[in-house]
Amino acid sequence: MEIIRAKKMGFCFGVKAAIDTCYKYVKRIESGFNVYLLGMIVHNEYVVEELKKIGFKTITEEDIISQRVILTKEDVVIVRAHGTRKDVYDKLIESKVKLEDAACIFVKDIRKKLLERENENNDIIFIGDKAHPEVQGIISFGNNIHIFKDLEELKKFDINEKKQYSLLTQTTLNKEKMKEIKNHLENNHLNVNIFNKICGATQERQHAVEELAKISDIVLIIGGKKSSNTKKLYEISSLINKNTKLLNREDDLIMSWFEGVKKIGITAGASTPEEIIKKIENKIRGHFNV
Ligand code: SF4
Repeated sequence: MEIIRAKKMGFCFGVKAAIDTCYKYVKRIESGFNVYLLGMIVHNEYVVEELKKIGFKTITEEDIISQRVILTKEDVVIVRAHGTRKDVYDKLIESKVKLEDAACIFVKDIRKKLLERENENNDIIFIGDKAHPEVQGIISFGNNIHIFKDLEELKKFDINEKKQYSLLTQTTLNKEKMKEIKNHLENNHLNVNIFNKICGATQERQHAVEELAKISDIVLIIGGKKSSNTKKLYEISSLINKNTKLLNREDDLIMSWFEGVKKIGITAGASTPEEIIKKIENKIRGHFNV
């Protein structure tokens, strides 16, 4: 039995930067001040739990908007790697807390592009998951946004040939879906300006899992239940290798999965810490004496 890791997997630089930002505030917590994480700083339950153990508190968008939690200028609020909504940023600025925006540069870049394109009188066609905080955050900065989850939904939209549009997407969109959308628009609607905003880390991980799924008997995708990029890795791998399993931590392993298996492929979402990956690998190695 052999364990093969994907060529690119685990923490991306956006997630790493957000976590590093949190650790800058450990001393402040030790001195008795409040340091809040807005939402899940990264989409991994283990990482959030570890930060809570240190003393970080969590706060939601609703807590801030409805002032359920009263913030003072001594407090720090760290905004998650995938950003938040404009009304929340505004409220935080108004409350005079120390605001640490740990939103990843790729997310900030899409926000910037959206504002730029709206200034050029373009309507925005946005492809992404409306329920995801990254998407809710980005689209809150615009005024003329049409949001769709995929090409099928987009095809039902009546694109006005007399108007100009710009296409933007969630950072973690499946790259194959992006290709289909691009082909459709280029062949049917030349008045849509296309901007591929899938982040580099996502693309690399999606490409690596394709390669891994082809050579493995089973593929383990490790990541948080709410992690969008983890779900995309699962989707991509499942299309190539039916024996793909999604798991969050070592307790989710079922050893009967590995009966008759020679090659175990392992990959992990961009917010999955190396520690979790190691624990899973070690449990398999220990059980099968690999
Ligand atoms: S997955 Fe991409 S967009 Fe999201 S935090 Fe990582 S680098 Fe940034």
